[in-house]
Amino acid sequence: MTIAIYPGSFDPITNGHIDILKSGAEIFEKVIIAVCYNANKQGFLPIDVRTKLIKECTKNIPNIEVDSFEGLTVEYAKKRGATVLLRGLRTSFDFEYEMQLSQTNHALFSDIKTVFLITKPEFNYISSSCVREILLNKGDIRGFVPDAVCEYLNKMV
Ligand code: ADP
Repeated sequence: MTIAIYPGSFDPITNGHIDILKSGAEIFEKVIIAVCYNANKQGFLPIDVRTKLIKECTKNIPNIEVDSFEGLTVEYAKKRGATVLLRGLRTSFDFEYEMQLSQTNHALFSDIKTVFLITKPEFNYISSSCVREILLNKGDIRGFVPDAVCEYLNKMV
């Protein structure tokens, strides 16, 4: 069984992330979406809220597991028996960064391969940081994030 890890901050999860995740779940037998965190760096949403929201949005996809981890992604992948890292690509800027990350991860753990999926055009401009910015300025985040996330975030502000 090929286990893929989809690592990221997911602060918050967006429709772009969900699209990559769904495609990944069609390709791999199991996809673990894992929120990476650094205990010294506080994000926008607490880790337990990020994972709770991801669980809510992915509850109908049986081969997806939601988890979180601290530290190196490759160490987490080893622990979970995963051989694939799943990542999404939007622009050539993503590509430059992701290529370096992928090569670094491969240098650290040669059994791991990164698989990139290119986002659909309608999700190309979506990022967690733009969602946070729109929300903090009281804009409309519908269409950027799944309904459950939209509802939660709108109650927050
Ligand atoms: P990180 O902090 O690791 O970049 P993110 O949560 O921002 O974490 O993103 C996780 C992964 O999802 C990355 O591979 C990123 O390129 C991808 N991603 C982010 N937004 C989108 C989107 N709109 N469409 C497709 N992939 C995306």
